[in-house]
Amino acid sequence: MSEEIKLAQTAKEEEVTLFDKIIAGKIPCSKVYEDDYTFAFRDISPTAKTHILVIPKNWDGLSSLFKAEEKHVDIMGRLLLACSQVAKQEGLDEGYRIVINTGPHAGQTVYHIHLHVIGGE
Ligand code: AMP
Repeated sequence: MSEEIKLAQTAKEEEVTLFDKIIAGKIPCSKVYEDDYTFAFRDISPTAKTHILVIPKNWDGLSSLFKAEEKHVDIMGRLLLACSQVAKQEGLDEGYRIVINTGPHAGQTVYHIHLHVIGGE
């Protein structure tokens, strides 16, 4: 296993992530959805007409999918449910993609798990 991948799997667990700051309102965002478990906002650099990030409020060490454990099953289910709600709200009736970039080779830049909801033209 390369050093780069080891680092992604073990070392990137900042106590307070960029996305924690967005949830706390310390960094502005364009919020589109929120419930008790999840928060969703528009990607600052969209790759499609609709590009939204869905994140857990309490990520519990789930910095990336590399870290997924049994204890994260509820968070992961909540994230997918929130994606479905967001897609409905955004009118993505023709379809959309859910992307979870995981690790450096996938271009993951923020180590607070997040699902990209990508739809529209
Ligand atoms: P990833 O590359 O999968 O880690 O995705 C991180 C995403 O966060 C990228 O698509 C960025 O454009 C997005 N992003 C970074 N900072 C912000 C921000 N302040 N507000 C909204 N989206 C952001």
